[in-house]
Amino acid sequence: MSNNTVVSPACGEEVGSIRVYTAEETRAAFVSARAAQAAWEHVPHATKKRIFLEFHDLVLSEKTALLDTICAESGKARKDAFEEVLDVALTARHYAYRAGALLRPRRARAGIPLTGSVRVNHEPVGVVGVIAPWNYPLTLAVSDAVAALLAGNAVVLKPDSATPLSALRVAELLYEAGVPREVFHVLPGPGAEVGQAIVADCDYLMFTGSTATGRKLAAQAGERLIGFSGELGGKNPLIVASDADIQRAAEGAVTACFSNAGQLCISIERIYVVDAVAAEFTRAFVRSVEAMKVGAEHGWNADMGSLISHDHVEKVSGFVDDAVAAGARVLTGGKRLIDGAHARGAYYAPTVLTDVPASARLYREEVFGPVVYIESVPDEDTAIARANDTDYGLNASVWARASTGRRIASQLHAGTVNINEGYATAWIAMDAPMGGWKSSGVGRRHGDGGLLKYTEARTVALQRWTHATGPAALDREKFAATAAWALRAFRDVLR
Ligand code: NAD
Repeated sequence: MSNNTVVSPACGEEVGSIRVYTAEETRAAFVSARAAQAAWEHVPHATKKRIFLEFHDLVLSEKTALLDTICAESGKARKDAFEEVLDVALTARHYAYRAGALLRPRRARAGIPLTGSVRVNHEPVGVVGVIAPWNYPLTLAVSDAVAALLAGNAVVLKPDSATPLSALRVAELLYEAGVPREVFHVLPGPGAEVGQAIVADCDYLMFTGSTATGRKLAAQAGERLIGFSGELGGKNPLIVASDADIQRAAEGAVTACFSNAGQLCISIERIYVVDAVAAEFTRAFVRSVEAMKVGAEHGWNADMGSLISHDHVEKVSGFVDDAVAAGARVLTGGKRLIDGAHARGAYYAPTVLTDVPASARLYREEVFGPVVYIESVPDEDTAIARANDTDYGLNASVWARASTGRRIASQLHAGTVNINEGYATAWIAMDAPMGGWKSSGVGRRHGDGGLLKYTEARTVALQRWTHATGPAALDREKFAATAAWALRAFRDVLR
């Protein structure tokens, strides 16, 4: 056992010290979780529902302490931290009410009407492993766990080593609401040690993080034949159509690109604007970006906080320098912020580029920072083609009249498309699936699938009167002829 200090990227000060777990301790946590899960599974749903509604209330009543913790360890602006609190509360409320209906045994249609009775029920998979990144240290640690727990599983969670405090704090709220400690374990530690021990022992792996790590873990999950969800990277496009409300689009694009300093898997890194409105949009957008306050304090006034670390500033800066060297023009930003209070933290200015050549690394690669480029295109169809020309497919945003927006959305290759919003409308729609196409992931969170994926389905089929494969005494050829005739004759009746 060892300890690790957590340092604020906003000011460089130590904000906490945590215990770091080992692979052996992780294996012990699985033994404890497995034993506790057997009892948790049988806790009636009405009790679980009460626990998670209580958790919902606790998260909201303890929001100040949660916001302080999130801001302290991640450096993000308070308004961005509040999105995390909101997400956790909405997820808990949604699944607390929805889980009962999803887990209730349901009747399914028999293959041959009247001769069979079929029911489907869902059982928890066992112990779900959750591995989370640093960018949303509260929501990405606990929201997926909420669905897994409500489905009757135990959870072993590894938060990122840079941001374990939010997960540890919210775990206390889960325990206070009534989740047994042995059912939900939070084990901070290195991916190579704690993360790998989780991958080796869990019955389902829920991973959020980079596409590179996701590919490796998916292969390991495949080897073990366990279920796997990977919520991975993105290079999300935003399209401004000729009939968009330009002022609203410009303001919305600021939130879409720079929330959480762009360290948001669903934030926008590419803007395609139709020629007819390109000058007007670009002027309004750059003006709004230049009005942003990059706060070194964690108050509500900051539009953007720090990045997660100096290393990450270095990486973001490298992307921008490479693009500029390749011929890109900086419309605003393009530099570290090192003045006054910013000097102590990991700050980078919100940056808008244009004329980015395809040879620049950030043309296709995810920056995961406050950097976006604008490209003007002749029409909406070109914008759609450009938007889809990527290995990723997580989120997209379209600014247009509703009918134009829907037409464009129906052609975009992305797990979520927000019309006249950057990312939030789809994100908070807990009843709808959210996740990535292509290299942005496999599986979905939210929606019915976001809970049912943590279960095994069991189909119980009762046969009445005779054999489903035909009466034993019947001539096989006659049975085949009768069955074929009946299937054809009743094709549209026996659906
Ligand atoms: P990362 O893949 O480096 O790390 C994510 C987590 O995996 C961390 O907890 C890390 O310790 C752990 N890990 C790393 N290697 C491991 C291994 N070999 N075995 C087990 N665990 C291991 O990702 P990151 O840089 O921390 O996060 C940023 C990335 O996450 C970005 O690409 C971003 O787009 C993506 N992301 C996606 C979503 C989504 O919902 N799609 C949400 C947030 C972030």
